[in-house]
Amino acid sequence: MTFVCGNCGKEYEFKELSFIRCLYCDSKVLFKKTPPVAKRVSAD
Ligand SMILES: [Zn+2]
Repeated sequence: MTFVCGNCGKEYEFKELSFIRCLYCDSKVLFKKTPPVAKRVSAD
């Protein structure tokens, strides 16, 4: 699950929801980032 830091805007991948904290600014304000839907990817 991807989270975005509400302070510095860095993105992180967390598996343990009880241990989410920004590694750069030590902020605990993280927003859950929803995965992109219907993203067209070229299979060439
Ligand atoms: Zn941060």
